[in-house]
Amino acid sequence: MRKFEDTYLHKGLRKKLVAQLKEQGIKDQRVLDVINNIPRHFFLDSAFDKIAYENRPFPIGEGQTISQPYTVAYQTELLNVQQGDKILEVGTGSVYQALVLAQLGAEVHTIERQKKLFDAQEKKRKRQEFFNHPDIHFYLGDGYLGVPEEAPFDKIIITAAPPFIPEKLMAQLRIGGVMVAPVQDADERQIMMRITKNDDGTWEEERFEEFVFVPMLMNINH
Ligand code: SAH
Repeated sequence: MRKFEDTYLHKGLRKKLVAQLKEQGIKDQRVLDVINNIPRHFFLDSAFDKIAYENRPFPIGEGQTISQPYTVAYQTELLNVQQGDKILEVGTGSVYQALVLAQLGAEVHTIERQKKLFDAQEKKRKRQEFFNHPDIHFYLGDGYLGVPEEAPFDKIIITAAPPFIPEKLMAQLRIGGVMVAPVQDADERQIMMRITKNDDGTWEEERFEEFVFVPMLMNINH
């Protein structure tokens, strides 16, 4: 069975990665500290052990990826996580982003549509205490539907690219809450957006940098 070890080499590489993220413009020290804290190589196949701290995405199976650290830091900074925030994440993937949010003090509800990925990380959670954070709740299902029984959420983060702002998710956001999502436009560009919900249910959209995500896939029934 795989042994999870966080060596001085890993810690050193992580420090370098955090310095890079700072140079790239990430300012929130809490976000940088959490990234410095979490052994990213634990979330990857052991074949990636030596390169896990390169600032790039990696495959996690089923054609999916763990997001690039810069992307994780960027989305997390835009979300401005506060202690006790109730957050919905769409696209559990490797669970790395969920753990970043939980370590910032959030209560995280994360939903994944691919059963194989869901099962793989459930197995990991049972085997390894590290992956079993008490403030992360896991759901297998369609992210376009969200988790209505847990709504309203203070914040929502989407870690795959939807072709539009999912309305059912906006309905699950509290007034004044924010959603951060890479929304694909007509030219197939994925623009990071921060969407803030107004008192009357309408919302404001802010546009940021362009990114590359896997698509947020639609299921047939909803
Ligand atoms: N947050 C993840 C990134 C995963 S990549 C991490 O930190 O590793 C995006 C994930 O979104 C993939 O696992 C993909 O299966 C999932 N996904 C795509 N469309 C979805 C949908 N409609 N509902 C839920 N998850 C979805």
